[in-house]
Amino acid sequence: MYILYLDESGNPDDPSDRHFVLAGAAVFERVVHFLTRSLDEVQAKHLPGLEPIDFHAAEIRSGRGFWRGVEKEKREAIVQDVTTAIADANHPGVVLFAAVIEKNERLYGEEAVKHATEEVCRRFDIFLTKRYQEHDDPQRGLIVFAESSYEKRARIWVRGFRELGTRWGAINNLCDIPYFAQARETRLLQVADTIAHGAFLLYERRNASIMRSLVRRFDQRDGILHGLVHVTSNKDTCECPRCSSNRSRTTSGRGSRHHRHRLSRRAPEPANPGAAWGRRAAR
Ligand SMILES: [Zn+2]
Repeated sequence: MYILYLDESGNPDDPSDRHFVLAGAAVFERVVHFLTRSLDEVQAKHLPGLEPIDFHAAEIRSGRGFWRGVEKEKREAIVQDVTTAIADANHPGVVLFAAVIEKNERLYGEEAVKHATEEVCRRFDIFLTKRYQEHDDPQRGLIVFAESSYEKRARIWVRGFRELGTRWGAINNLCDIPYFAQARETRLLQVADTIAHGAFLLYERRNASIMRSLVRRFDQRDGILHGLVHVTSNKDTCECPRCSSNRSRTTSGRGSRHHRHRLSRRAPEPANPGAAWGRRAAR
């Protein structure tokens, strides 16, 4: 089974944020323990001897809450080490997904949240289908959302999730309704938080500090980053990793059909679409 841990970034209702992001990591059941342990190790390295501390990327970066008394260099090193732990995690035991919604007058608030949820659930379902079709690896999926303001809306649709899924065009491989948990209770939701925050920084601020090393870990086939969805009216000119991967597919497309190793330790050499965006991005 793959468990998809999801968190959000950007306020869907606040017009000062141009983007709303829903993102996270699908983690194979046997890899949950190892990814949890690598985040515990980040804490042990930088803040030894303390109770588990919730790694919440926006708070760490801005030095809020617990992080107020922690020097900037250490805070930056922690975010970097958490990012590296995700980037180096088992492949295909950890696969990333995100929906980045560019809000407009029709797509904001509840609609933006729903659209992002639909995109991520569908991509996750397609990933599971491909595991079976191309790798002879039948797996079911389960979704865990971080409890937040998102929870209040999403709990309402979770009751009708099956019907919603049918309307969205199949979520055949999910074995149950989504569940909710608090980020402080599982390191994997802190992983989701880091990915969501990283995607928000990239799209909202052109800051690639987190996403630079994570782009290659999004679900991809034939050179296209299927796991990273960008909903924008400027698809044809957008230089983001996803939109540029669509356009470069004819020149750099490589099939994954023949990759047979199930849980090989290394991620494939990445397509690096959108590199220009990352290079130009603010530090
Ligand atoms: Zn784009």
